[in-house]
Amino acid sequence: MTECPSPSRVYFSEKGDFLALDLGGTNFRVLLVRVRNGKRRGVEMHNKIYSIPQEVMHGTGDELFDHIVQCIADFLEYMGMKGVSLPLGFTFSFPCQQNSLDESILLKWTKGFKASGCEGEDVVTLLKEAIHRREEFDLDVVAVVNDTVGTMMTCGYEDPHCEVGLIVGTGSNACYMEEMRNVELVEGEEGRMCVNMEWGAFGDNGCLDDFRTEFDVAVDELSLNPGRQRFEKMISGMYLGEIVRNILIDFTKRGLLFRGRISERLKTRGIFETKFLSQIESDCLALLQVRAILHHLGLESTCDDSIIVKEVCTVVARRAAQLCGAGMAAVVDKIRENRGLDTLKVTVGVDGTLYKLHPHFAKVMHETVKDLAPKCDVSFLESEDGSGKGAALITAVACRIREAGQR
Ligand code: ADP
Ligand code: MG
Repeated sequence: MTECPSPSRVYFSEKGDFLALDLGGTNFRVLLVRVRNGKRRGVEMHNKIYSIPQEVMHGTGDELFDHIVQCIADFLEYMGMKGVSLPLGFTFSFPCQQNSLDESILLKWTKGFKASGCEGEDVVTLLKEAIHRREEFDLDVVAVVNDTVGTMMTCGYEDPHCEVGLIVGTGSNACYMEEMRNVELVEGEEGRMCVNMEWGAFGDNGCLDDFRTEFDVAVDELSLNPGRQRFEKMISGMYLGEIVRNILIDFTKRGLLFRGRISERLKTRGIFETKFLSQIESDCLALLQVRAILHHLGLESTCDDSIIVKEVCTVVARRAAQLCGAGMAAVVDKIRENRGLDTLKVTVGVDGTLYKLHPHFAKVMHETVKDLAPKCDVSFLESEDGSGKGAALITAVACRIREAGQR
């Protein structure tokens, strides 16, 4: 759970310069966010993307956090701000137990991370220790934020109806505004609180088993975290390509594809990237692009092969969008029931490359939500960089509240 201000009631008075970090999947980013109030109200952002080499993702926690601090140092120098100390918001998108705005204990790594010595530790402490090891600058780590929450807050800046955040990127997760009376872990009955659902772990108790196929099971078993994040593994960017690859292997074994010959390439994990699902489904060139992609993967295909591959991509992405839509329908309908309303108007703030770039994912998901939650009028708002901007906005609010308390 994350204690943060209701998205509909903040940001009209926030201002200042903030640093934000975004760690939670494919890239690591450092951002400088300038928040202005008054007539020039708005947010200006500068950011730089850094890769995290696999050996660092799978190394020790110290190595990972030293690398993060190295990236911050590089960014400050790049921005001509060496030595400047700014308040920092840390978007850290892994399952955590968040005890306060600036303390968050990592429960389990997901999405390909496996750095040792971090699970069970407070990630703010790990970050501060790495900053001190470097002895070059100090930073005031004000807030740890989940990317779903950052996305909801960012969209709430534009639309006061935004009370849900959704990510469909490397992984998938959602958050929503829950009534305090339903939040057992926190005292108090009044008002609302943002709940980070960690919905990627839905199904880990077996409740999705009727829906999981042998291909889902195969992808799960070969992942870094078998048995965990089962819902996420049916929906998100890190896994859809692998599901397709497993189906193609099965079809080839049955003699339905590639003349029954399984190439070494097809046996290679990760070669079928989720971006290929988007490219294949966008193909308007009479399957020429599908064949070009398969050729690039070393898979010599006939015209029939490319028709089948395209159909597999369509089915896998469609199922992902429908599952995601089913989850979202349950969330919005719960908000409606919580409030005893016949109808609910609500906005969902969304971020994630799969949602944004796949040609059909968003549309299929929206249709599913409409079908399954007919009493809710749901709008979807794409966040403009929710993960980075949201952390800065939350940091801005926290700084204002802290300063008010000191006066
Ligand atoms: P993160 O979730 O790590 O913040 P993103 O939202 O950028 O990052 O999502 C990254 C994921 O998006 C990757 O797993 C990748 O497979 C997937 N992806 C990248 N390009 C595309 C595309 N064109 N279509 C669909 N998925 C894509
Ligand atoms: Mg992200």
